[in-house]
This record gives sequence, C-alpha cells and structure tokens, in this order.
Amino acid sequence: RQAQIGVTGLAVMGSNLARNFARHGHTVALHNRTAAKTRALVKEFGHEGDFIPAESAEEFVAALERPRRVVIMVKAGAPTDAVIDEFAALLEPGDMIVDGGNAHFEDTRRREAALKERGLHFVGCGISGGEEGALNGPSIMPGGSAESYRALGPLLESISAKVDGEPCCAHIGADGAGHFVKMVHNGIEYADMQLIAEAYDLLRKVGGYEPAQIADIFRTWNTGRLDSYLIEITAEVLAHTDADTGDPFVDIVADRAEQKGTGRWTVQTALDLGVPVSGIAEAVFARSLSGHAELRAAAAELPGPERPELHPDDAARFTEQVEQALYASKIVAYAQGWHLIQTGAEHYGWDIDRASVAAIWRGGCIIRARFLDEIRAAYQGGQAPVTLLTDPTFSGALKSAQNAWRQVVARATELGVPAPGFSAALAYYDALRAGRLPAALVQGQRDYFGAHTYQRTDKDGSFHTLWGGDRSERKED
Ligand code: NDP
Repeated sequence: RQAQIGVTGLAVMGSNLARNFARHGHTVALHNRTAAKTRALVKEFGHEGDFIPAESAEEFVAALERPRRVVIMVKAGAPTDAVIDEFAALLEPGDMIVDGGNAHFEDTRRREAALKERGLHFVGCGISGGEEGALNGPSIMPGGSAESYRALGPLLESISAKVDGEPCCAHIGADGAGHFVKMVHNGIEYADMQLIAEAYDLLRKVGGYEPAQIADIFRTWNTGRLDSYLIEITAEVLAHTDADTGDPFVDIVADRAEQKGTGRWTVQTALDLGVPVSGIAEAVFARSLSGHAELRAAAAELPGPERPELHPDDAARFTEQVEQALYASKIVAYAQGWHLIQTGAEHYGWDIDRASVAAIWRGGCIIRARFLDEIRAAYQGGQAPVTLLTDPTFSGALKSAQNAWRQVVARATELGVPAPGFSAALAYYDALRAGRLPAALVQGQRDYFGAHTYQRTDKDGSFHTLWGGDRSERKED
C-alpha cells in the first residue's frame, strides 16, 4: 500500500493535520526530523486511521504514491528552506511540495520559482485555525499552479472546515497568492480584535459596566449581525474569573499585547503597495504601544479631561451606539483588507476570486463570522464594488450607523479614552467620501520646496509654480 499524502514536521500543527487526513480515510505517510516524535504519534493516535511512519526522508518519499504530495509543517524561515531542499533532492518532476507553515508570501514566490525550474510544484498553503482547526477542520488557502490544485484540492477540501456543506478551501492563485491571502486574514484579525477590545474599554470606562456585564452584552451582540467566533470568545474571556484572586480575569492579565508578526507583514506589504490599511496599522501600533512600559510609565501623570458623571439612563443608549460603531468600523477594516487583496492580485498577477476568499473564511479560521456571507454576496456575480463600503448592504449599514459612530468617537475623545481603531475607521470613511481633500495643499507644499510639480483640476499636464521667483506657472510637459 502507498500513501496519498505525507506530512513531515510533526509538532502540534503537523500531527493534527496528519490525523485529520487519516480520519478522512487517506493513507498518510509520517516523518519528523526527530524520529521519536513520529513513533509517539503512531503509538498514541495510530488507531485513528492508516499511517505509514518513516524513519528517514528516503523511506518517507518511497511510501508516497505518484505524483507525490509532501506537506511540510516545520518552523517558518530557514528550517523550511532546509527541509524543502532535502525533499526536493528526493522528488521527481510532477511531485508536489506543500508548505503549510506561516511563510511570508515573498519567500513562497522565491521557493515556487526555484522548484518550478526542477519540474516540481510548490504550493504555499495558508492554514488558519491553529491546532484545533488543523485537527477538526481549518480554513485552507492554497496557492501554486492550477495543475497542482487538481491533484491536491480534493484532499485539502476533505479535511477543511465546512459551512453549509461547502469546504473552506479554494485555490487562491499562483505562487504566493495563498500565503498572501493568509497574511491579510491575520491582518484583518488584528483589526477585528482591536475594535472589539476598544468596544469593551468604552463600555467599561464610559458605560460604567463590569466585565461580567460586558460579557452579557457581547453574548447578546453575538445573536445579531456581529455574530462571530471573536465576539463569542471575547464574552467567554470577560466572564472568566481568576481562581487565585476572585477578580475578573481581564483585570489580572498584564496589558501588553504581543504579536508574532503577520499583522506587521500585512502593514509592511500595504505600505509597499500603497494601500491604506489604517485599521490594521492602528491595531498593530496599539499592540506595540501597549508593550512600551517605560513610555507609559513616563506619561502616566499627563493630564486628561475631567470626567463628567454619566447620566444613569445613558449607558444603555451608549451600548447601542458602541454596537453601531463597532459594526461600522469592522466594515471599514474588512474593506481595507479586500482592497489589499485586490491590489496584491493586480500587482503580482494573481487571479483571486474575492467572493471565494470570503466564503472560505466563514469556517475554520479566527475571523469566521456571519458577516462574511455579506462580503461574499457583494463580490458574487455582476459588477464587483470598487470598495466594500459602496456595496448596497454595507453602505446602508454605514448610513444608519454613522451618527452613533460619530458620537462614540466624539465621546471617547472627550473623555480621553483611546479608540484608535474606531477613530481611524471613521477618518477613512470620511476621507473617502470627501469631495476635496487637503492633499491639494500637500501637493502645493511639495511643489514649493521640491519642485515636485502638480496636476490641475481644469487642465491636463504637470505644472510647477516659480515659488522663489515671480510665482508664474510653467507647464512641465
Ligand atoms: P513549530 O513551528 O514549533 O516547528 C516545530 C517542527 O519543526 C518540529 O517538527 C521540528 O522538528 C521541525 N523543525 C524545526 N527546525 C527544523 C529543521 N532545521 N529541519 C527539520 N525540521 C525542523 O511547529 P508548529 O506545529 O507550531 O507550526 C508549524 C508551522 O505551522 C509553522 O510554520 C507555524 O508558523 C505554522 N502555523 C502554526 C500555527 C499554530 O497555531 N501553531 C497556526 C498556523 C500555522 P523536531 O521535532 O525534530 O525538532
């Protein structure tokens, strides 16, 4: 017998993926640098399906049916390169190497190009959902050639999460497209988490609610349009009490948010491509700021506004306004994410179906939510909207939310509660809809000090004003 698929790298993610494949009836070859891990996996979970453990890379490759499908789940970066090289030397033209790790899409593009020269298919595959997802159904974002997807797709779809019977797995596009889209997923996740955290902070500091009460508010929201995994787990975290102190768990956790880097990659890529992802950027910066203990300690005594007592009737109304502000800001964050996907696709020549990205994020990943059905609908059939903000469903929601959104941002500002995510989202909305932007003045400044030229609203061409001379205008071309 031979294996349909092999997994090398049997830490948490690789083990769980291998078990997921086996549970779906596939014969799975297993390999890990340290063979003891392979043996331990078979000993503990061998009864779950058909595994072929291999002690060496050669034995592993020999166990696979052709074309061979090798999934690599090792540490991102240099270890991934080392393992790719090791297996590429043992494989034959037509075989496939799948990198399921969190690689940067530029690394994936480089690896794909190098392996293509050797006749091998390299599939950079975004896998979301952490260890639980890997075992029970992740959201899977494979890039690489369409040909490789024909051979891999059915296996990946079989182990992915399912929503309404549809697999949360689809071919994203050539070379690095899968890892690019996975990166944007994580960027959006940062923004969504930040917005939820701001909503909590405002409900607590302005609304005057306790964490347990806010947990109930989130549970209620989770029955409506904000229904999502992130809102659900937020309610759980807020309701949790610390066993040692009896305090709300959220009060005993150090308020320094950490990050592993995919949010930062998203913002760096967006800067390179010139895409304004201000919601994601604010979320990344908010985490950085929280970690600067020395700055925060130094600034702790700086004055804030006087805090007026809240009117007792105010809290319930404020809660409704925060729900509106959260929903509107969330629309903006996702619109920015989809703009980045669209721009990346144009820049790198990927044919990415934006409806399908929404569809495969509905299950198995951290940002899974009902909301993604609406995004999918916006991009399905007909003319795709230039921005999600102008899709009728979302423009309608923004229209009804905007007054509350403005009041929440105004209130936060007035009371000195930082809400960078809400504020940045509102500023983006207002900037996009503004008829005229002060960018015209910036162009004037640039022309003044650097003769960078400007375009006019009434004539074609580039112009420069002789600022140091008689201030007459010259046409430059
Ligand atoms: P780790 O990232 O901790 O990697 C450990 C595995 O890498 C082990 O199998 C280890 O082998 C192997 N390894 C490390 N260096 C080498 C090397 N030089 N040569 C050969 N093998 C090596 O494992 P995870 O399961 O946490 O993650 C795997 C990948 O999946 C990573 O890229 C990660 O970013 C990504 N990912 C992780 C998620 C998570 O929630 N953890 C979610 C989504 C993706 P050995 O046992 O011999 O040390």
